[in-house]
Amino acid sequence: MGRITLDKVRKTFGEVEVIPPLDLTIEDGEFVVFVGPSGCGKSTLLRLIAGLEDVSGGEIRIDGNDATMVPPARRGLAMVFQSYALYPHMSVRKNIAFPLRMAKLDAAEQERRVKAAAEVLNLTDYLDRRPGQLSGGQRQRVAIGRAIVREPAAFLFDEPLSNLDAALRVGMRLEISELHKRLKTTMVYVTHDQVEAMTMADKIVVLRAGRIEQVGSPLELYRTPRNLFVAGFIGSPK
Ligand code: ADP
Ligand code: MG
Repeated sequence: MGRITLDKVRKTFGEVEVIPPLDLTIEDGEFVVFVGPSGCGKSTLLRLIAGLEDVSGGEIRIDGNDATMVPPARRGLAMVFQSYALYPHMSVRKNIAFPLRMAKLDAAEQERRVKAAAEVLNLTDYLDRRPGQLSGGQRQRVAIGRAIVREPAAFLFDEPLSNLDAALRVGMRLEISELHKRLKTTMVYVTHDQVEAMTMADKIVVLRAGRIEQVGSPLELYRTPRNLFVAGFIGSPK
């Protein structure tokens, strides 16, 4: 479960239309990457899906249900923030369990989910440490763990690797792809990095000024870019 459809979704900030009416379907289990230059509306679009911003028009459906007015915590989606969003004074275990404590899940179920997430993420031996005692990659995994325990219908990532150094970024990119293979849960991933887009995506959505320039698999975009903007961004020889 994790099919997300946007039907003429638009967003204005004051007088400025940042996202003109936009249609998009994200299939259950798909790894979809929003890519485009800084300021093109990637984060805004993701935040609209998450419910962190209200739409100015249109409809968002999640697994067929109208979610347009549903608050973020009840959409069944999990936003993965950059690793610096961890609580430094809490153990890894408490950081990962945080959303479950907020939801008042019983303690045994919390522990079960934290253990399962830690196992998937290779964090089992680090549960009693604090974020400050972890490497950058491990901290990023804790941030992902906090999303996994919610057992969401989809994961939403906003440039999760942008504050990691280049070598770590490559490793984490592979880890997130592995995680997607294992969980088979829908992932929507925002980046301005075309290498991340080309290597991780099942489907790439190329955005420019809030509009979709093209949607397709990495190979489709590479072979048949619709215009010079897409070709330039994807790096194909058109
Ligand atoms: P991206 O993530 O692709 O870099 P954003 O979605 O952050 O782009 O921003 C898209 C446009 O919307 C930018 O012009 C930005 O300045 C504007 N914007 C984003 N958030 C707000 C806001 N809360 N108020 C006003 N303008 C905003
Ligand atoms: Mg952004």
